[in-house]
Amino acid sequence: RAKAEGGSLAHCFEAAMDSWARSRRRRETDLHEAFARCDLALAYQPVVDVRARTIVGFEALLRWHHPAEGMVPPAEFVPLAEETGLIVPIGAWVLRQACAEASLWADPVRVAVNLSPVQFRDPGLVATVREALALSGLAPQRLELEVTESVLLAASEANVATLHALRDLGVRIAMDDFGTGYCSLSYLQKFPFDKIKIDRSFVSRLGEDPHSTAIVRAVIGLGASLGIVTVAEGVETEAQFAHLREEGCGEVQGYLFGRPSPATAARALMQREPDLAA
Ligand code: C2E
Ligand code: MG
Ligand code: MG
Ligand code: MG
Repeated sequence: RAKAEGGSLAHCFEAAMDSWARSRRRRETDLHEAFARCDLALAYQPVVDVRARTIVGFEALLRWHHPAEGMVPPAEFVPLAEETGLIVPIGAWVLRQACAEASLWADPVRVAVNLSPVQFRDPGLVATVREALALSGLAPQRLELEVTESVLLAASEANVATLHALRDLGVRIAMDDFGTGYCSLSYLQKFPFDKIKIDRSFVSRLGEDPHSTAIVRAVIGLGASLGIVTVAEGVETEAQFAHLREEGCGEVQGYLFGRPSPATAARALMQREPDLAA
């Protein structure tokens, strides 16, 4: 009997694996097609200067409008794009698209683009960034590249060299999701980042959880003493904003100031900017 059960369990497992593999393959084909058919788009979320309460930039965020399933969040398809290597051509498209869009904005307004660690395995990455800048005519200091700590985890020496080569183009480099990695502080020693983005998980508990509050204060202080701009992600309430302003945080990003939205909406938001001072 045990044997029969084992047999059926194995069968069950096999069937489950099979259907998992099939649905994954389908997703993979879908993603290939989406890229070919231009079902991918960028949404832009405003980044606001805390003291002036004005828009100083936008972060470009990938969106996939799946014909049958609707909006697929990047948390679901970016990992798939990374596993299949598709993130390299998609990432190149994101860079060109974001730079072209930003070249239409008023001069100092910047655009931030997320880079996957997989893009660092591509020897053409620096050339891709250089080309995106050249094609759009965007001044390099108006482009910010966001990397997570994982870039410094694997192949860290080669990746640090690439980060330096990227910065030699004149772009700024930001560390995204600061505080969520294993060893955030040591990464600041490996590469002199221009910017630290404090992860949303700390910001959302500001003023409620004493540990998160203390961590946010410490990171802002650290940024101040290292001369690195600090940005708080995921600011949703005026109370969080007031708290961050008191602590001396440089920039904020979050639903309080705007959700990621299509390029045309981002342009309109810039024109209505005084609304932010409300
Ligand atoms: P991220 O770079 O840390 O982006 C910030 C995420 O926080 C975005 O999620 C944004 O929509 C969300 N967010 C912003 N403000 C708020 C807020 O006030 N409340 C809440 N609850 N969420 C907020 P999104 O767009 O789903 O992107 C998730 C992640 O996917 C990004 O995290 C980034 O790691 C990755 N990603 C997005 N676009 C790209 C891309 O073009 N290339 C690569 N490699 N990764 C990307
Ligand atoms: Mg980011
Ligand atoms: Mg982030
Ligand atoms: Mg994040």
